[in-house]
Amino acid sequence: METLKFELDEIETQRCQEFCKAHEECPGRSMGEKILISFLPTTMGDAVMVRCLSCGAHQDITNTDKF
Ligand SMILES: [Zn+2]
Repeated sequence: METLKFELDEIETQRCQEFCKAHEECPGRSMGEKILISFLPTTMGDAVMVRCLSCGAHQDITNTDKF
């Protein structure tokens, strides 16, 4: 994984790990290259999205409790 500009909190890290686990079987590259985490700055805070580059699935893993 490359260094992230923003940090995931405990909840988001957990959701990210679950997403990674769910896409472990997806064909292709190694986990670090396959899963892309992106941050979308909003007025409410940073929304965190994870995307599987292998199958194209994506999920919002933002911990909205912190808003
Ligand atoms: Zn996938």
